Amino acid sequence: MKQSSLFGSTLRDVPADAEAASHRLMLRAGFIRQLAAGIYTYLPLGWRVLRKIEHIVREEMDRAGAQELLMPAMQPAELWKESGRYNVYGPELIRLKDRHDREFALGPTHEEVITTLVRNEINSYRRLPVTLYQIQTKFRDERRPRFGLLRGREFLMKDAYSFDTSWEGLHDSYQSMYEAYTRIFDRCGMTFRAVEADAGAIGGEGGTHEFMALAEIGEDTIVSCTHCDYAANLEKATSVIRRSEAVDSSGTSVGEIPMAKIHTPDTRSIQQVAAFLGVQPHEIIKTLVYVADEQPVAVLVRGDHEVNEIKLKNALGAESLELADADTTMRATGAPVGFAGPVGMKIPIYVDQAVTEMAEGVTGANEADYHLRHVVPGRDFELAHAGDFRNAVEGDGCPRCEEGKLQYHRGIEVGHVFKLGTKYSETLGAKYLDPNGREQPMIMGCYGIGVSRILSAITEQSHDDRGIIWPAAIAPYQVHVIPVSVKDEAQTTLAQELYDRLTAQGLEVLIDDRDERAGVKFNDADLFGIPYRIVVGKLAAGGEVELVERRSLEKQVISADEAMTCIA
Ligand code: ATP
Ligand code: MG
Ligand code: MG
Ligand code: MG
Repeated sequence: MKQSSLFGSTLRDVPADAEAASHRLMLRAGFIRQLAAGIYTYLPLGWRVLRKIEHIVREEMDRAGAQELLMPAMQPAELWKESGRYNVYGPELIRLKDRHDREFALGPTHEEVITTLVRNEINSYRRLPVTLYQIQTKFRDERRPRFGLLRGREFLMKDAYSFDTSWEGLHDSYQSMYEAYTRIFDRCGMTFRAVEADAGAIGGEGGTHEFMALAEIGEDTIVSCTHCDYAANLEKATSVIRRSEAVDSSGTSVGEIPMAKIHTPDTRSIQQVAAFLGVQPHEIIKTLVYVADEQPVAVLVRGDHEVNEIKLKNALGAESLELADADTTMRATGAPVGFAGPVGMKIPIYVDQAVTEMAEGVTGANEADYHLRHVVPGRDFELAHAGDFRNAVEGDGCPRCEEGKLQYHRGIEVGHVFKLGTKYSETLGAKYLDPNGREQPMIMGCYGIGVSRILSAITEQSHDDRGIIWPAAIAPYQVHVIPVSVKDEAQTTLAQELYDRLTAQGLEVLIDDRDERAGVKFNDADLFGIPYRIVVGKLAAGGEVELVERRSLEKQVISADEAMTCIA
């Protein structure tokens, strides 16, 4: 590929809101361009990287015996109503109507579509197990799209679904996906950890694991042991840390936390809510989540529940209130909304100062027996079980082996494997006939990889202040040939010869044939991050070149032939 005709240009400046290094670098290097918040075009260089990641994902999925298909992004709302998720999924689900006024959604995930597909195709145990996957654009109207491809509203996901006849079968399917994921992230050159994402999964059989790319920008905290292989998502890890009493962030015992008040998803302030309830803002201590007229409201009630419920009903003009589960609120409010944010997630929160002060950094989570601690406006908080309230702390003894110490890392969720069981097969009627002719629900698992998120995650892990450093397996090109002066015939001839020979060897080569100053060319090359660079300069007449390794920026002057062998 000739760089003179490469579409997309490098930029010196990027918008100030590009906070993440990966976001800035990918914009500057001309890998992506934003169309709208969380919605990006992949320019040719970015698309090449994405296709390489896809290729690795495909190879490993196929090797694991999964079969690829492609499902529609546009899904009838009926399907989502049938599974019961239409109402609970909340504003992240992009909803639309066709010209006949029929309701649709743009797929944020495909459990509904795949389960109905399999329901219609398979009715006998003889046709199971089966694992199906696709690589497809997903849509999620994230409340806070940010960090470029890390949290997009339109993004590329690999999603796979397994269907088994037994839990042992599911375990095997899960295990084979888990291993495929490990190979995929290894091959991509990523530093990652698979962590337990189960509440209280300790010792037990993990029903879900997250694959975390280690990076400071990550929104999750991983706790892992220095001695054994214990590793978990911190929010999930809290329930395995055995503690006897509830204490606040200053270590003072709080015992039973009295009850509870509210916050509405339209971000009414704590003061307004307190006014509804006739209490002082500083008396607000704990959240409960109610649904009023299908609108979730996180309710903070102090003292007498029932009295406060009535006040709340009146204040909201609601007929009735129904206690909702955490998932409902999480979906409906999206994160982060006041402290009615999703349970179990680390999110920046925006609570009124008053709440923090009065609650000494402790507030209710939207889940029975859970509290949030370290609640400081604009900072991350932690979820802790009331009974085990003092969260795992860095340096604590490992709850599993009791020998090592706990360490913290920040992580980006790049993959997620999940044992679903019969949740969808029951609601959507995906049944098969067993050998005795009896109908049984299929036992499902689902497995996601954020394909486009990987691009950013690797850039986060692998860059320096000059640009991106691509691992060879996913680099847009393997070799960057740079004739320093295209006016010098010896240089252009040798550069072209190298280009032809490398290409003939099956390598992907970019040649900087532009009539630009050397400094401009080198800066762009550093930014692109292609693993090897062959600089063809003044020594070209003598058949010598400079071979530069992008990661170390180490240079060696060698003959063109030697350079060929070094790279091949
Ligand atoms: P997160 O916790 O980051 O919101 P999730 O748990 O909602 O992710 P899953 O439903 O598990 O995501 O989807 C499977 C994978 O898709 C995730 O592991 C992640 O890598 C990727 N993914 C999810 N949301 C996004 C997004 N908004 N932009 C890019 N990739 C995403
Ligand atoms: Mg999410
Ligand atoms: Mg997640
Ligand atoms: Mg997930």
